[in-house]
Amino acid sequence: MLERDAHVRFALNEASDGLWDWNVATHEVFFSPQLKRMLGYGPHEMTPTLESWSANVHSDDKDRVFLVLQQHLRGQRERYDVQYRLKNRNGHYLWVNDRGRVCERDAEGKPLRVVGMVQNITDQKTLELQLMRQASHDSLTGLRNRGDSEATLLNLVNTCRRLDVPLGVCMFDLDYFKNINDVHGHLVGDQVLVRVAERMSGLVRSTDSLFRWGGEEFLLLCPGTGAEALELLLHKLRDELACGEWSDLVGTDPVTASFGAAIMPAHGATTGALLLAADTALYRAKAAGRNQVVMATAQDCAPTDLPSAAA
Ligand code: GH3
Ligand code: MG
Ligand code: MG
Repeated sequence: MLERDAHVRFALNEASDGLWDWNVATHEVFFSPQLKRMLGYGPHEMTPTLESWSANVHSDDKDRVFLVLQQHLRGQRERYDVQYRLKNRNGHYLWVNDRGRVCERDAEGKPLRVVGMVQNITDQKTLELQLMRQASHDSLTGLRNRGDSEATLLNLVNTCRRLDVPLGVCMFDLDYFKNINDVHGHLVGDQVLVRVAERMSGLVRSTDSLFRWGGEEFLLLCPGTGAEALELLLHKLRDELACGEWSDLVGTDPVTASFGAAIMPAHGATTGALLLAADTALYRAKAAGRNQVVMATAQDCAPTDLPSAAA
């Protein structure tokens, strides 16, 4: 048995994946030289204990990893199979795919020995996360994009309705932005957009969500914010743009925006109705001379979406 084990270990050590072999009763873990190499350790480093591994699992992944392991040990899951971040010797995290199985149990079924393989999947995971980010974020400003806003808005509508708290929805659009492009060039226009995103992000709460909705249009979602508080916040945003420093980009030309806002439940109870009410208010802000905040009124609501009609 021991000789066969030695052969198996030898074969596995030659593979590119790292092997571990955990003696549950003694808490001892054999880490293969390949696994140690993957984590930046020499063959005689890394104490052969469970803690050498568990202490280096990323704190955000720990609960999930330990739950999967526990479920497998208890027989509720056929195999231990999980992806997570594992710290290497330099303190950097690798993404790993860790798979294992109980290979010996005692007469009562308690696990005695568990073996598994760790595979370094950092490259593919980084690419996967990059692609996910590209799909949900705007590459110019780094804000989340319109596609991503749809699911967020729907979630917030449902959550705020369930908790019976208001949801503030604001659309804002830069004023005469075409003029900035025409006079100063498209690249300066891009820099203005980036700075608008930075300044607006700095003024909203971490629970608010700011999206680049389209060209020079933005969507702001503020859960738990009613009409009065939202109007106050939007005036702050308006002032930050109108009074902020832009001269290095556009000289003496103004950078301003028009804001239209709606509140759930007063102006709608669905995503479509709220966006429409905010957009109608934005249109009125433009028509009234721009650089201002306009809150939706009952007339901006779609008739079928008034709270009384929806109830
Ligand atoms: P209004 O006050 O009515 O909103 O006028 P406006 O000029 O801002 O509106 P309009 O819709 O006429 O023009 C929007 C401009 O925004 C036109 C488009 O070229 C520019 N734009 C859209 N996306 C980008 C971008 O990513 N970068 C730059 N530099 N310009 C953009
Ligand atoms: Mg505009
Ligand atoms: Mg526009």
